[in-house]
Amino acid sequence: MTSKLHTFLSALSCEQYTRLLSRSLDSKLSFSERLSFYTHHILCVVCRRYRRQILLIERMAQKVAGADYAKDKQERAGSAGGELSAEARERIESELSRELATRCNKPNG
Ligand SMILES: [Zn+2]
Repeated sequence: MTSKLHTFLSALSCEQYTRLLSRSLDSKLSFSERLSFYTHHILCVVCRRYRRQILLIERMAQKVAGADYAKDKQERAGSAGGELSAEARERIESELSRELATRCNKPNG
């Protein structure tokens, strides 16, 4: 690997990684963004852990909110607007609290 390419690949900060991660949940990243993203992903254990947690929350939100969440995600992809219903938000919050309580009480979790 040339040093110029190496500098480019490792130049992504953790903050930039998290921004790309958020965007990648709603839309497809460009090739160069994906390249930088996965290079940082391989090199940074903190961001790998963060991504796992975000994906867990995403899956739980999908599970709890069901159709509301899918609709909201579609709206977010299409425009900046879109809100979950109050009922869906409550369900997500209570499910997250329950899941976090379960995980925090596990001896090896
Ligand atoms: Zn990082």
